[in-house]
Order: sequence, then structure tokens, then C-alpha cells
Amino acid sequence: MEKSFTDLIEEVQKPGLCHRCGGCVTFCSAINFGALELGQDGRPRYKDPEKCIECGICYMICPVNHELDNETRNLVGWHEPMGNVIGTTVLRALDPEVRAAGTDGGVVTATLLRLFDQGRIDGAIVCRQTSPFVRQPALARTREDILAAAGSHYDESHGMEIFGNEYSTYSPSIRAMGPLSQGALSRVAFVGTPCQIMTLRKMQALGIVPSDAIKYVLGLFCTQNFIFGEKERAKLEELGGFSWEDIAKINVRERLQIFTKSGEVIKIEFDKLKFMIRPACRFCDDYSAEYADISFGGVGAEPGWTTAISRTPLGRAVLADARDSVLEQYNLSQNPRYASEALAKVEELSRKKKESAARCLDASGRA
Ligand SMILES: Cc1cc2nc3c(=O)[nH]c(=O)nc-3n(C[C@H](O)[C@H](O)[C@H](O)COP(=O)(O)OP(=O)(O)OC[C@H]3O[C@@H](n4cnc5c(N)ncnc54)[C@H](O)[C@@H]3O)c2cc1C
Ligand code: SF4
Ligand code: SF4
Ligand code: SF4
Repeated sequence: MEKSFTDLIEEVQKPGLCHRCGGCVTFCSAINFGALELGQDGRPRYKDPEKCIECGICYMICPVNHELDNETRNLVGWHEPMGNVIGTTVLRALDPEVRAAGTDGGVVTATLLRLFDQGRIDGAIVCRQTSPFVRQPALARTREDILAAAGSHYDESHGMEIFGNEYSTYSPSIRAMGPLSQGALSRVAFVGTPCQIMTLRKMQALGIVPSDAIKYVLGLFCTQNFIFGEKERAKLEELGGFSWEDIAKINVRERLQIFTKSGEVIKIEFDKLKFMIRPACRFCDDYSAEYADISFGGVGAEPGWTTAISRTPLGRAVLADARDSVLEQYNLSQNPRYASEALAKVEELSRKKKESAARCLDASGRA
């Protein structure tokens, strides 16, 4: 018998490994019959177990387990130690408006806009601000939607996903794929964290609709995401010596960076933030979005620039076209080794994340 949501409860939810990505609920074969639902706290649960047809889809696409490892690896040509790397470069958007809106160099947004303007996509799954503290996954259907979603701010204006009484920097982008099942759009780019990309690639490996509509997969480097309630929020304010209302923008690089409205930048080391790390992130071993077509992050680049790693021939072609039209490449003539040094930095952080995940698995007895 195929494993079902009952097994996800035992193996993923009870040990605290659920990302709340929503993949199982969104793509449950019996969702129209009401087998699963999302609870107020963002956790999936049975609505009516009798409606489950035990097809096993929810189990197979869950990013936490190792079902389909070989299939997803073959799909993108993954290999040790951190997936396929065709090339690494450091870039920023040519358009100052895109640069100003972006988290780092606005490169993800500029690339999406280029794909859209050329008619190669009719939409993109991104994250957008919906109200104070709420940043939600969204299907962007226009240039304006894509531009409005630029940045990865976690502040009061750009907000966070709220799960029950908790704030989280995690945004369950997989859920935004739901409308694609009704044929809303047919050529879509997906922007997401490594775990979300894993769910997507599993769906593609299985040929589950609507993953065929995702034509370009843009990954973000990811050390961890945070989840916290009022108590942790107060602790963070005390740790950084700032008041929540003063936050202008937050960025995650090698440490948490808090930009205040008065222009101060407060940097907090990750090891001081263990009290608010999402439990599932402790076991995650993918730093650099190893299954994406292109991976993006600030690490290795100067402020205002983005490090980009092309991983598939498709990703390389997209980046080359964007570089020749809407992006500016960092002046490598001053230091021809700049891009390879950026890659070395990513490799180092990737290795550290894998070691840390292995230690956590060991300690939990699940290795
Ligand atoms: C939770 C998180 C953790 C990160 N951790 C690191 C890190 O440790 N080291 C590092 O170098 N870089 C990290 N990044 C990536 C970095 O913050 C930038 O997103 C990246 O450098 C691209 O910058 P940009 O200016 O080119 O992209 P932009 O032009 O600003 O575009 C960013 C795109 O990402 C989308 N997005 C924003 N937030 C989310 C989210 N939570 N989930 C899914 N999509 C989102 C936006 O809608 C937008 O389309 C992280 C990003 C996120 C969201
Ligand atoms: S019907 Fe399939 S996808 Fe839905 S809960 Fe049951 S096993 Fe999971
Ligand atoms: S698919 Fe996502 S939401 Fe569902 S159990 Fe797995 S991690 Fe949790
Ligand atoms: S650390 Fe891993 S599990 Fe956590 S949000 Fe990032 S990619 Fe997902």
C-alpha cells in the first residue's frame, strides 16, 4: 500500500519537521472531496480521512522525506557536493528602480521582468506584501505584480506570514501553484527557497499537474527561516537594542541584518538566534538551492550586488540573455577571481549547513 497522509503525520508532523509548505494539501488527489485542509496555524491536517484514496502523492512530494531522491537528482543533473554548477557570476539590475526595490542587486526581479517582457512567461510565483506583517505567496500576472514583489523584507511594511499567533519569515510559495491546476497560466517562473524547490522538482519528476507549467525555477540561498511569537520578538528587540517600529528592512546573509529607519544597520549572529529558528530548518541540508535552474544570494557579493549560480543549461541561457540586456556584471577586471571567490564562500556555507543538519539528525536519532 502507498504511504499516505497518515505517514506524514507520524514521520513529519509529530517530530516537528513539517515546513507548512502546503504542498500535501494543495495537491492532494482528493482535495475536492475534502480529504485534507490547512489548520489556522498553517499546519495540514485531515479534514475527512474517509475521503483519502491513499494515492501516496502527498507523501511523495513532501520535501522532508527522501522519496524520489534519484528521480529529482536525474532531472537536474545533481551531483555532490552541492548540485550542478555551470557558472557563477556577480550581478545587479541595470534599472535603478529595480535595484532600489531588490533585496540585494534586484537580479531576480530584473530576470523575471526580462522573461515576462519577452513573452517567455505569462506569470511568476513570488511573494507579495498583503498587509502589515503579512507577506504571502502570490501568482504575479503583470509586470507591476513582479516589481511589487521585489525584495525579501521581513519588516512591518513587507511583513511576514502569520501562522496563528506566530510570525514567520517563511512564505509557503508552493500554495500559490494551486490556481495553475485550473489552467490559469501555462508558462510560469517559480521563485522559492531550496525546500520549496524540492517539492516542485518532486512534482515534476512524477509529472504531477500543474508542475509542467513551471518553466523556470529561480532559487534563493537559505540559511534558515524564523518563526516567533511575542516573547521571542521581545527577546530579539533586546538582543539587537532596537524597537520593532524602527525596522525599515531585514536581510539574511551570513548574519541577520536589521536596517533601521534612522539608517543604522544592526547585525546579529545566527548562533544567537537559535531560539527563533523554524524547527524544520535545523534539519535542512540545502543552502544554495541545488535543484534550481539558477540560484541567487547576497553571500560572496558586495552590498547591492547578487551572486548568481547557473545550474542547468536553461538557467545559463536565461542568465546570459538577462546579463546582455537588463543586468550589469560586477567589474571583474579589478579582481578576475571575484566570482570564483564568491562560489568558494557559497561552497563553504553549503558544507557547514550539511554538517549542521547531519549533527541535528544524529542528535535526534533520525540519522
Ligand atoms: C527566507 C530567505 C532566506 C535567505 N537567506 C539567505 C542567506 O542566508 N544567504 C544569502 O546570501 N541569501 C539569502 N537569501 C537570498 C537573498 O535574501 C536575496 O533574495 C537574493 O540575494 C536575491 O536578491 P535580489 O535583490 O537579486 O532579488 P530580488 O530582486 O529582491 O527578488 C527576490 C525575489 O524573491 C521573492 N521572495 C522574497 N521573499 C521570499 C520568500 N520568503 N520565499 C520565497 N520567495 C521570496 C520575491 O518575491 C522576489 O521575487 C534569503 C532569502 C530568503 C527569502
Ligand atoms: S488522497 Fe492521496 S494525496 Fe490526498 S491525503 Fe490521501 S494519500 Fe495523500
Ligand atoms: S508537504 Fe509540506 S506541509 Fe505537507 S507535511 Fe510535508 S512539509 Fe508539511
Ligand atoms: S533552511 Fe531549508 S527548510 Fe528552512 S526555509 Fe530554508 S530551505 Fe526551507
